[in-house]
Formats: sequence, C-alpha cells, structure tokens
Amino acid sequence: AKEQGKGRQVVFDDRMDQRTAEQSRLTADLRHAVGTDQFYLLYQPIVAMPGGELAGVEALARWTHPQRGPISPAVFIPAAERTGSIVPVGAWILEQACRQAAVWLTTMGAAAPRTVSVNVSARQLREAGFAGEVAAILSRTGLPAAMLTVEVTETAVFDGGAALEELKTVAGLGVKIALDDFGTGHSSLGLLRTCPADVLKVDKSFVDGVTADGPQTVVAAALISICDGMRLRAVAEGVETAEQAATLQRLGYRYAQGYYYARPMPADEIAGYRPGAPEA
Ligand code: C2E
Ligand code: CA
Ligand code: CA
Ligand code: CA
Repeated sequence: AKEQGKGRQVVFDDRMDQRTAEQSRLTADLRHAVGTDQFYLLYQPIVAMPGGELAGVEALARWTHPQRGPISPAVFIPAAERTGSIVPVGAWILEQACRQAAVWLTTMGAAAPRTVSVNVSARQLREAGFAGEVAAILSRTGLPAAMLTVEVTETAVFDGGAALEELKTVAGLGVKIALDDFGTGHSSLGLLRTCPADVLKVDKSFVDGVTADGPQTVVAAALISICDGMRLRAVAEGVETAEQAATLQRLGYRYAQGYYYARPMPADEIAGYRPGAPEA
C-alpha cells in the first residue's frame, strides 16, 4: 500500500511539473503576444439602472494564440500570475486602458465613460512601486486619476500588509478602488473597515439566484444594505435577465454589468452603445 501511495505521489509530481512547464510555455508566448494584434482589450459597459445609460466600462483582456486560437483570461491570467509575467503584462493593460479612456474623453466628451475599470492581480499589487507605476501611467496618458478604477479581489488585499499599503497609496492618488467578486473570498466584512474601497462588485454567483422570490435574493439584499450603510457604490455583476435586473432595482441597486445590457466589445464600439435595448 505504501508503494502504491508513493507511485501516486510520483504521478502527481509529474503532473505538477507538466503543468508548470505548460504555464511557462504559455506565458513565454503571452509576453511575445503583448504589443501585437494577438493581444487586446475589450470593454464591457457598466450601466446605471433603470435606464441602462453608460456609467463606466471594465477592460477585459483577450488573447488569440496563433496556433491554439482564443485562450480565456481565466487560463492565461493565473498562469501569468504564477510566472510573474503578470507584472509587465498588467502594466501594459493598465496603460492601454488609460490611453483608451483618455481618447474617449476627447472624442465623446460628456458622453464618455466616466471611469475605466482595470483588473489588477495580487501579484501586481504586492510589487513595490505599483502605485508609482500607476502615477506614471496617468501622467503619460493624461487621464484624470478619478477616471481610473482599480479592481482588486478581497483575497489579493487580504494577502498581506504590503498589498493593502500599496492600495492605500493608489487610492491617495485619487484613483477609485473596487472590490471585485465580492463575497467569494474570505474576510469580506472585516476588510471593508481597512480597505479604501469605493465600489463593491457583487459577484455573479449572488446575482444568478436573484429572482422575484428566490432565497438567494436575501444575500443580494444584505449586500446592498451594507454598501448603502458604508457609502460604497454597489455594482451587480453578471446580470443576464430582465427579471434579475428588475429585482436588483427593487432591492436598491443602481449599477449593473452583464450580458443583459451589453457584452464586452471593442473600444470603437463604445461610442455606439445605446441604453434601453438589452440583448435577449
Ligand atoms: P472578472 O473581473 O470578474 O470579469 C467579469 C467576467 O464576467 C468577464 O469574463 C466577463 O466577460 C464576464 N461576464 C460579464 N457579464 C457576464 C454575464 O452576464 N454572464 C456571464 N456568464 N459572464 C459575464 P472574462 O473576460 O472571461 O474574464 C474572466 C476573468 O479573467 C475576469 O473576471 C478577471 O478575473 C480576469 N481578467 C480578465 N481580464 C483581465 C486583466 O486585464 N487583468 C487581470 N489581472 N485579470 C483579468
Ligand atoms: Ca473585474
Ligand atoms: Ca468580477
Ligand atoms: Ca470573476
């Protein structure tokens, strides 16, 4: 039995090695892709309810691998985090999104998205000098700090004191902070006292169960009440149906993001986004 156990261990280690090797290959390819048309950002509207007017956008990374085709960020982002490549790749994403938001400001004027949200991973936040990098990017792109929102997960902030300190410095620049996937990590409520958050993104897993009489609706109700009490802006993530949108509004939600309103789209389609015509 002992030998069998040992054998399994070897197989397990092999798989781990294979996975690590695979991730190294993937991120090496990724670093070459950045700066070419293989790698780009889409922008998903964050809308004001009930009308669906554009309130902001979230930048979402896309990669079409020359041999393997489209690869999900749910695959390449974790790989890039493990190898550390997320630091240069994430800096490129941040600069690209800020540059685009500055362009919208020029071309769309008052109709421009009021904020561009950029996902920042734990690994980036732990890097000393992240806040300095953000300041440099804002100055290079000319985007007002208040128009940038940095999205971080609870787990990233909870990771350690260094990440939280870095985040406070970023907030000190005037950049908005959003807690992403809220409710799926740990320490949720305690974190709200220490983290300089402006926005709380209520995770899709809580929105999925929101129906006129669904039991999950109480969680969404509790979260909006916390946000109201703490003067946080709540954004409901992954809104897919009219019923969800209507129930969320009844609960007091004023901001939403999801396929019901709009899917992630290329930057040049943002100016053509019109509220009031949700996708079926
Ligand atoms: P996230 O930050 O929670 O982003 C929201 C995800 O939900 C996006 O998936 C978006 O396309 C998807 N989504 C939006 N509305 C709906 C809906 O109504 N229904 C469903 N089923 N999905 C919806 P995406 O673009 O595949 O990104 C997955 C995750 O990858 C993101 O989750 C984020 O954690 C990460 N990611 C994406 N881009 C970046 C990036 O530039 N940097 C970092 N660090 N992470 C990123
Ligand atoms: Ca996000
Ligand atoms: Ca999210
Ligand atoms: Ca997510």
